[in-house]
Amino acid sequence: MGWGGFRGGALRRQAGERKGDGMASTKLVVGNWKMNGLADDLVEAKTIAAGIEGGVDVALCLPATLIERAARALPGFMTGGQDVHGAGSGAHTGDVSAAMLVDAGARLTIVGHSEWRADHQETNAAVRAKAEAGLSGGLDVILCVGESLKVREAGEAIATVSTQLAESLTAASARLTVAYEPIWAIGTGKVPSVEDIAAMHAALRGRLVASFGEAGAGVRILYGGSVKASNAAEIFAIPDVDGALVGGASLKAADFLPIVEAARDH
Ligand code: PEP
Repeated sequence: MGWGGFRGGALRRQAGERKGDGMASTKLVVGNWKMNGLADDLVEAKTIAAGIEGGVDVALCLPATLIERAARALPGFMTGGQDVHGAGSGAHTGDVSAAMLVDAGARLTIVGHSEWRADHQETNAAVRAKAEAGLSGGLDVILCVGESLKVREAGEAIATVSTQLAESLTAASARLTVAYEPIWAIGTGKVPSVEDIAAMHAALRGRLVASFGEAGAGVRILYGGSVKASNAAEIFAIPDVDGALVGGASLKAADFLPIVEAARDH
């Protein structure tokens, strides 16, 4: 099995890869299977793991029911959850804690995905608690932010997403990744213009550096929303796009591996 860029179980970048000088970093491509996948579908994860050739970091965030099976079937391949509770344990029916995810073999988790925020009326404060619980529980964390179409059309996207980031984050860490996911681009086939992605990622980078200095400069910022093989190369060429969070196109190796390849080339 090829495992590009796997470095001891963390999404972290090598020290010095980005010093705030615009230097490119190793890209990270994360698949989000959402509420899709049964045991038989792990054949796709196996094909993905076998198809990675290095020069890019890759992970799959699976339904909680598949994490342990995937971790056993694919030792060394990075698997993660799609959410984590802000508390360590207790009366939270249906939720999973960081310790449970780690116990199942997960090394990372998504927090603050717009679908979870909408389905569970989740506040930025709740997302922050989840990010902190994930990091202190030993997981790498992908923190999602993104604006609605209404906000974008009102010209308030950067201000809104910047506030979301500020309120969802208390510290930058080598184990933290931010994913910019405009809600209107998720699963719709619509993608913001190159200029709009560049402006948002530059704004997020500026916020991270202003708040956390060099630690903020080292946080990878992924783009997510209708990434596919045909648009991946263009997106990965945008400054401060350090990879992608991929939903629909991560379910099949044939769709996902070309995106991984495109990231490797940048
Ligand atoms: C996502 O769910 O995070 C996502 C980006 O989905 P899609 O790639 O299907 O738009």
